Amino acid sequence: MENETVSKNFIENIIDKDLAEGVYDTVHTRFPPEPNGYLHIGHAKSILLNYGLAQEYNGKFNMRFDDTNPTKEKSEFVESIKADIKWLGADWEDRLFFASDYFGQMYEAAVKLIQKGKAYVCDLTADQIREYRGTLTEPGKESPYRNRSVEENLQLFEEMKEGKYADGEKVLRAKIDMASPNMNMRDPVIYRVAHMTHHRTGDTWCIYPMYDFAHPIEDAIEGITHSICTLEFEDHRPLYDWVVKELEYPQPPKQIEFAKLYLTNVVTGKRYIKKLVEEGIVDGWDDPRLVSIAALRRRGFTPESIKMFVELCGVSKANSSVDYAMLEYCIREDLKLKRPRLMAVLDPIKLVIDNYPEGEVEYLEAPNNMENEKLGTRKIPFGRELYIEREDFMVDPPKKYKRMFPGTEVRLMNAYFVTCTGYEADEDGTVRVVHCTYDPATKGGNAPDGRKVKGTIHWVAVPTAEKAECRLYENIVDEEKGKLNADGTLNLNPNSLTVLPDCYVEPSLKTAKAYDSFQFMRNGYFCVDCKDSTEEHPVFNRIVSLKSSFKLK
Ligand code: ATP
Ligand code: MG
Repeated sequence: MENETVSKNFIENIIDKDLAEGVYDTVHTRFPPEPNGYLHIGHAKSILLNYGLAQEYNGKFNMRFDDTNPTKEKSEFVESIKADIKWLGADWEDRLFFASDYFGQMYEAAVKLIQKGKAYVCDLTADQIREYRGTLTEPGKESPYRNRSVEENLQLFEEMKEGKYADGEKVLRAKIDMASPNMNMRDPVIYRVAHMTHHRTGDTWCIYPMYDFAHPIEDAIEGITHSICTLEFEDHRPLYDWVVKELEYPQPPKQIEFAKLYLTNVVTGKRYIKKLVEEGIVDGWDDPRLVSIAALRRRGFTPESIKMFVELCGVSKANSSVDYAMLEYCIREDLKLKRPRLMAVLDPIKLVIDNYPEGEVEYLEAPNNMENEKLGTRKIPFGRELYIEREDFMVDPPKKYKRMFPGTEVRLMNAYFVTCTGYEADEDGTVRVVHCTYDPATKGGNAPDGRKVKGTIHWVAVPTAEKAECRLYENIVDEEKGKLNADGTLNLNPNSLTVLPDCYVEPSLKTAKAYDSFQFMRNGYFCVDCKDSTEEHPVFNRIVSLKSSFKLK
């Protein structure tokens, strides 16, 4: 681990070099989401990377909505994205921008290119443009409109802006090189006509800039130094560089690409998440089985655990998929010492202590977290009737079974030793009640004569128990069978959600608020569901179970 914190990633190396050579004297990064969906764990990586670099180099971090495409964008997403980034702890201070605020400057930039003879209005249809573009092995063909005069282009572009043309009738193209081996350089379209209402600029514009033209301008206007994006834009970098060069920005930004974060057994792409939401397969964008940031928060993940995860993943140029178990490892590590360890019974049967006085309730002291004394202690009510887990009792157990069965003594966690004396069952053999006797001398869970027991089980006292619903989750897709079926639909895991409606938890959980999290001893880490939990009907999401096969190398 120590080596990892010392050695720098490839982006830091680029920045160090730029600072040393005086290419830039400061570091200014940004996060530029398109407001067309909720953010997911992959975006978290990008946010924390960009924000982290700004912090590391004492620079600045901008938040910018890349809202140049009016078809798919919604204000609802703007608010959710802001909330998610704040929750992650990235601070844009007073630098919240919208690319649409630059439409005027982008228009001016396009005019400048026309004046330089570097852009032209083209009347070819979308299909023709595609045809003329050529292929990877064949050069493209020049558009018959390529050599229009500057004056004609200026007038036509102005008319495009004035609304004289229908969608698709004319476009503005950069004049670069139809024979370039890079297809993106074959006179790419930089402005199109689209008679659409924009979520911020309304009907002010009927022409909109294309991403490859707009993005470098946005970066340059904001004084971004290092424009970090994902690998699929690598082939677009020559165009990015062309745009900032032709527009003669004094300190052009630099694009750097890194590999996207992919996780096994979950769905990351916005497109797939959207589909699950729209088809009602999940309960909205924040369904705890998803890895949108809203879903991770609802499930009970913390910003710290996500930061740890992103750091462990590292930054690289090679695409790879990270095991979901690593994310689980991070949340366990984060919560282990921070959160109280309480008792909750998820699949209850009753245990009656026949020699315990009827109607009596005593309060036993228990540490909130055995590994962290600072969390203090609490008093847990104990009485003659308790709930225990059904799986903690067996009538006829196999040899290695260490829990309760007739004739054995076990420890009730934080309480007493009890000896199982019998049970009551239905005709079909289903156990209803287990009987036992307790040894008052073992209060606190240890025998004065030093005798040992093999098992320790948890419990909740019946009269003071809080009834609750617990929700257990599994991955939403089963990657081993393939994320997608042959017909392109998602290969869903039918067991991704299990609802346990009759759980009992300690009364101390009565005051728990949305997002509060705890360890339920032996059952995992849980958190209060922010949407469905009420005082009358508490609902807990299992964040993660306690055990893992995941090992940090
Ligand atoms: P998706 O592919 O999930 O639809 P996107 O790339 O369309 O995402 P944008 O809103 O355009 O989403 O992305 C904002 C920023 O987040 C971009 O800089 C993008 O490169 C980055 N980003 C998106 N997905 C990932 C990912 N899986 N890992 C790392 N960064 C990502
Ligand atoms: Mg996108």
